Amino acid sequence: MASAKYIFVTGGVTSSLGKGIISASLGKLLQARGFRVTIQKLDPYINIDPGTLNPYEHGECYVTEDGAETDLDLGHYERFLGIDTSQSNNVTTGRIYHNVITAERQGKFLGKTVQVVPHITDEIKRNIFNLGETGDYDIIITEIGGCVGDIESLPFIEAVRQVRWDVGPNNFLVIHLTLVPYLRSAGELKTKPTQHSVKQLLEAGIQPDILVCRSEHHLPNDIRKKLSLFCNVHINSVIEARDAETIYDVPLLMRKEKLDERVLTKLKLPHKNEPDIEQWKEFLGRLKNPTSEVNIALVGKYVELPDAYKSIIEAFVHGGAGNECKVNLKLIPSEEVSEENVQQLLGEMDGILVAPGFGERGISGKIATACYAREQGVPYFGICLGMQCAVIEFARNVLGLEGANSTEMDANTPHPVIALMEDQKNLEMMGGTMRLGSYPCELKKGSKAANAYGKNKIKERHRHRYEFNNKYLKDFEKAGMVPVGINPETGLVEVVELKDHPWYIGAQYHPELKSRVLEPHPLFLRFIKAAIDFKYKDK
Ligand code: GLN
Repeated sequence: MASAKYIFVTGGVTSSLGKGIISASLGKLLQARGFRVTIQKLDPYINIDPGTLNPYEHGECYVTEDGAETDLDLGHYERFLGIDTSQSNNVTTGRIYHNVITAERQGKFLGKTVQVVPHITDEIKRNIFNLGETGDYDIIITEIGGCVGDIESLPFIEAVRQVRWDVGPNNFLVIHLTLVPYLRSAGELKTKPTQHSVKQLLEAGIQPDILVCRSEHHLPNDIRKKLSLFCNVHINSVIEARDAETIYDVPLLMRKEKLDERVLTKLKLPHKNEPDIEQWKEFLGRLKNPTSEVNIALVGKYVELPDAYKSIIEAFVHGGAGNECKVNLKLIPSEEVSEENVQQLLGEMDGILVAPGFGERGISGKIATACYAREQGVPYFGICLGMQCAVIEFARNVLGLEGANSTEMDANTPHPVIALMEDQKNLEMMGGTMRLGSYPCELKKGSKAANAYGKNKIKERHRHRYEFNNKYLKDFEKAGMVPVGINPETGLVEVVELKDHPWYIGAQYHPELKSRVLEPHPLFLRFIKAAIDFKYKDK
């Protein structure tokens, strides 16, 4: 464990300051200097993982290759660094306690009284060192969810304090992300909230090494001096983090503020080369200088909270830049769409994406949307439930199967074109029991999907309980909705395409989870390209 360096990122004053983006940006800069970096998030809530949380509570649930249901910040880590994370990269209080209590029931504590310190903190540390012990990383960045001072984050903060002694001060660093608010009436930036939150850290025995200060305004030298003096941090380690035009500017802003250099110096790491961020800059160049523009609708159930679709929204940013195209994403609540108003709501759109989701609410709107896109020749991309809705729509309106449905929405449908997977029957536990994570898929040669990927064998991530009912496979194929992606081991349909349509694809998996800044997902790239072609076709 001592061969790796440990960086902790804590938050103060308020939540939503963007610890995930700062962690990912720092990770990117260190990686760009040649270090092997991973990022972990410790979440202080009691749920074992966010898989059972409503998206309104917690935003999107991000799924890793190994099928862990995790916090959406892991998506930022993967997208910025181009790495795969795993179950070990997201640990909650719930999991920590679950592990400790399970060990207690197994008699592993040999009669000892089991306590928060040392047993819970030991388990937290074990989960931190787990990543270091793989030998795969030079630097591990651990983001602590919530704010310092929260009751529930205390054991994590205490564990961080102890880690300093376990690994030694040269292998340990704390970055505190804080807010420096601007008071308009006084015309001043205020340092007091930061002073207070650093005091709380000090009370817990932690002296932050670096302050990253979120602010709407430039941090003048006198404010930096004040923060340095009161918070006991070197003035060069008071880092400004101004509101950025896009989250993808943040690595460059942190580079300008020399955050990476401060970190290397404190960790006694060689400064090696300058970070190689040329490709990143090229991406930003494409993002900020589009040569075309399209309108794309995202029809979903949770659109009031865009965080519920974080990875999809970011995949459009990557894919948009890849096409040098500005994607104006219009989020449309599926509940508001009907056969009557679909033309009015979607008439201006150059492409339509129907989002993943669960349950009955908004389903008829998604089906009406799928129908509209099919009939009008508008590029359509259905993801998971969005694919299932396309299948239901096709069954009802092309195959004439009245009442066709998914058994998720109607258990007694006469035509269950989407049905519960065999291994999902008789499950009692809801947490972590969906079909999760990466599975192989074989694409039909010559299909639009295979052309997009440029290969026939792919692996994509999943999160679902229902599947295409293969009983209907032949009928669909004959009528023009072709299953072009199949899991070679189970025969499960992964991708469907419409034959006589410019671009109409449904994927049972979640391509958005594998889109990266420097490697946009091929299906998003092609979908946006199809939207551009659609928009400019008659011009
Ligand atoms: N509710 C559907 C299922 O469980 C789709 C899930 C999803 O869109 N992630 O199969």
